[in-house]
Amino acid sequence: MLPENLRMTSHWEEGPSQGSGPPNQTITFGKSQGCYMSRGATFLLVVFMLSGLVTTGLIVYYFAPYLTPASFKDSKKPVSASLIQPRKGDEETVRAPCRSSPDTTDEAMMTNEKLEEPAAEVIIRLTTETSLSSVDLPSSGRKNTTEKSIVTSIPLISSTTEAETSATEQTNRRLPRALKPLHYLVKLQPFINGNFSIIGHVEVEMEALEPTSNITLHMADIITRNETIMLRALDDPHGEDLKIRQHEYDNERQFYVAHLEQELQPGHKYLLSMEFLGYLNDHLRGFYRSSYTDADGTHKWLAATQFQSSDARRAFPCFDEPGFKATFEVYLAREENMTSISNMPIAETLPVTGQEGWLWDRYNTTVPMSTYLVAFIVSDFAHMNSTFMDHVLFKVWAREEALLQAQYSLDIGPRILSHYEMFFNVSFPLPKLDMIALPDFAYGAMENWGLVTYRETYMLYDPSISSMYNKERIAMVISHELAHQWFGNLVTPYWWEDIWLNEGFANFVEYIGVDYIEPSWRVKQRFVTQVMQEVLGLDSLGASHPVKTNIVNGDKITYKKGSSVIRMMNHFLTEATFRKGLSNYLDAFKYDNAEQDDLWRHLTEAAHEDGTLPDDLTVKIIMDTWTLQMGYPVIKVVRSPDGTSATVSQERFLMLRKENSTDTHEYRWWVPLTYTTEDDPNFNNTQAQVWMKDSEAQLTIPSLPSKEQWVIFNPQETGYYRVNYDDHNWELLIHQLFTNHRVISTINRAQIIDDAMNLAKAGHLSYRAALHLCTYLPREAEYLPWEAALNNFDFLKTMFSRTSGYGAFKSYLLDILVPLYDSVGFEDSVSDPLLDQYKRQKAVSWACKLDHPDCLYKASSLFAHWMNNPDNNSIPLNLKSTVYCYAIAQGDEAEWQFAWDQYLRSNVGSEKAKLLSALGCTKTVWLLTRYLEMAFTPSSGIRKQDSYTVFAVVASNEMGRALAWDFLHNEWDRVYTFFKNIVMNMIRVVSRSFNTKQQLSELLTFCEAHAQQLSSAELDVKQVIENVEINVAWMRAKHDMVVGWLEKNGYSSKLRSHK
Ligand SMILES: [Zn+2]
Repeated sequence: MLPENLRMTSHWEEGPSQGSGPPNQTITFGKSQGCYMSRGATFLLVVFMLSGLVTTGLIVYYFAPYLTPASFKDSKKPVSASLIQPRKGDEETVRAPCRSSPDTTDEAMMTNEKLEEPAAEVIIRLTTETSLSSVDLPSSGRKNTTEKSIVTSIPLISSTTEAETSATEQTNRRLPRALKPLHYLVKLQPFINGNFSIIGHVEVEMEALEPTSNITLHMADIITRNETIMLRALDDPHGEDLKIRQHEYDNERQFYVAHLEQELQPGHKYLLSMEFLGYLNDHLRGFYRSSYTDADGTHKWLAATQFQSSDARRAFPCFDEPGFKATFEVYLAREENMTSISNMPIAETLPVTGQEGWLWDRYNTTVPMSTYLVAFIVSDFAHMNSTFMDHVLFKVWAREEALLQAQYSLDIGPRILSHYEMFFNVSFPLPKLDMIALPDFAYGAMENWGLVTYRETYMLYDPSISSMYNKERIAMVISHELAHQWFGNLVTPYWWEDIWLNEGFANFVEYIGVDYIEPSWRVKQRFVTQVMQEVLGLDSLGASHPVKTNIVNGDKITYKKGSSVIRMMNHFLTEATFRKGLSNYLDAFKYDNAEQDDLWRHLTEAAHEDGTLPDDLTVKIIMDTWTLQMGYPVIKVVRSPDGTSATVSQERFLMLRKENSTDTHEYRWWVPLTYTTEDDPNFNNTQAQVWMKDSEAQLTIPSLPSKEQWVIFNPQETGYYRVNYDDHNWELLIHQLFTNHRVISTINRAQIIDDAMNLAKAGHLSYRAALHLCTYLPREAEYLPWEAALNNFDFLKTMFSRTSGYGAFKSYLLDILVPLYDSVGFEDSVSDPLLDQYKRQKAVSWACKLDHPDCLYKASSLFAHWMNNPDNNSIPLNLKSTVYCYAIAQGDEAEWQFAWDQYLRSNVGSEKAKLLSALGCTKTVWLLTRYLEMAFTPSSGIRKQDSYTVFAVVASNEMGRALAWDFLHNEWDRVYTFFKNIVMNMIRVVSRSFNTKQQLSELLTFCEAHAQQLSSAELDVKQVIENVEINVAWMRAKHDMVVGWLEKNGYSSKLRSHK
């Protein structure tokens, strides 16, 4: 990344006389005593390297003078501000899905997509050879060609970010196992109100497990100096330093290696210490800076951390892998008008010697933990306390102006935490827990142990402005992060391939936490539509992947399939056995690392004790089929002619079966078969009635009722599979829905709809049956079946939107939907049950989507009323997204401009997000073009982290799709350079509705042309292409079939002929 200029070349020996540097500081590239290089030589070397870099277009990220804390005097202005300049165009970044569960509903902001970090960095690889051998050193310097070490490390920014680092690269960066860190002392002084440098000191106590003559740890974007690096044998009575023969900096693998003159001996302990200089970056990872403007208009800075998965190494040198647990003693220096927080409570506060106005906060030593869970924050934020728990001091932190919006989080946080203590049967081990809402945050939230960080929209709730959906998201995200305090923090995977255990569990347990505090929301029921049915869609692609995978940060499969198969396990083991096994596992591995087999073992023991699994069956046998292979089965139930028995078979459910597939794996699963029947309907038995083995393609189930009575498999949709029936059983089910649908449980009505529509889409069932089934919906009062149906209609609407059959399809949908719309009304009532509020929100949003005149009129009227009274927004909170969108869609520049002004004015995160999405609803093409340009223009008012959201709403707009696709073509270089990590999501969203051969061919050409740049996202590219292939195949095979059914049932798009 290119700094604005290269003024820094004049600063490396700058002292305070030039204004802002600390006194008596010199940067010393080279060892000054017994030296490798003189300062002059170093100077020449660096000038040479720099000019070389400039001429070749490579950029050094930054240079900063090396400072030692001891000699620090002018603490207010430590280093020339111009030395480490914030660079234009790298302000805010967003990457990867939120740590909390991704989500999608109408209101869901695009944050659930992988919004990734724009990375304008350029690779600089200064190898030992180029840095030394290419320089003709003056005689005062010693050119030591045998000395492999480069004499100082130069902070480099790799062109790759963690989010896109391939699994292979991650593995290549793994550390040797000869040493085990035991304890860290970390001292950091971040100059938040200066030039963003960080002065650091670290001591790592280690134990040798094997004989080794080198010490290797992770380090990135840090400058150290060889002479500060010391090694001592802790059990040596003389305490003499051990000699380091050579220092090696492997920038590519982010290693620092100390080559020793003697071997370290197993069983002995050693202490490595060093001083270093870091930098508060603005990449939202490592130790980074963030800012906000307070009520008085003052620009305020703060510093925060985000270490998962491997960015602790950017804050201090460390063994940066989850398997290396150690204790941490942290010191944070801060100016006296600011506050610091870390994982543990402050033990004491001490003055910083010689630096007036600065204080050291020393923190209590942590419990053993992984580096990615360490956290530091220095800010001027305000906080509120809760006294709900007697052994945990619970606090919430936010900007002072936003603090009251944290009240809801403060109410529910401690209640969820203490519920989990009961649920897991393990106490929360830390004496305090802080939750903080950060203005700039890459993820949704992060579960740092004892200091959970959130994006403002996921922690701050204003009941007078935000919707119930916003409130629910906050509850879910908090519940998710607090679940990690056990699953992830207390017991941690050895390596990221088991990250699905962390995320799957948190994604599952978050529903338990929210169900406890808000039982009326019935969130457990909604797991089925929010999580399971969504991921069943993604996992039906040939280009899916197993949940246990080497995708470091995880994706929807990790989170949603992970939690779905855990939920399945919870049901087949029974709740009591599941919790017993879980609690034993947490107790056995607390403060330690584990892998999925360890969990399976404890669950199996509990299951055998309780008799919930046969003695010859283990959880591993079952669960390996769900976690190690991708996809899932469709269970086909074919009843005998008299109905009293059924042949049940399993087959992988694929949305598109490819003739030329090279996948020869035989996909079969251990399937917990559950079912209920019309003569004795019981939807509560979710324990396996029959196990279908992975060696069985089919089996027979006896003792079913006669053929006049239906059977339903998979009660409560707890099994991660779809169910298909013979035609007769489908007819019985449809008949039941039309006569008395309530006989079938709510979840199973949603299941039957979702299965039927997807089976039809994949060609396992006729659309005649699926669409006929859906026409029972006007009788349906529950939200869940509606949600399942509308999610599926969304695909049909997308396919139809530019075909001549759209009119007929719209009439069919309106016939189903208008009775619901009329019954729920346009008036919001916050006292209604949550699902009634959601039902209204869905009905209104779909009515407007289908151009229902009453809906469009009301949206415009409410918005016009607001425009006339800008200080009085009376639009129902839950309907804001819909009203904003359709008022802007029907309006022109004035409506757009008003919404934009409100966006700039609003101080509530959720409100800003709604307006930002709605601005993309305009049908005025030039406004869309301008909006798209603004999204990728610095200082336009749209933060870089929101660029993708804007692109996505424009690409999803019928009028904007072509603009977005053109934009991606024309601006590829710029977009790729600055928004590298979101380009894949941009391609995904713009191609979502592609359904012609021409569009498929354009997509293939595009991906081909940029194959090299998309190489790290190979699987994503395959998925995007497969989705379009599915659409094209659907148009060819199913479109006319659906039109035929519509016409036969009185819905036609044809022009009536004049008689
Ligand atoms: Zn998580």
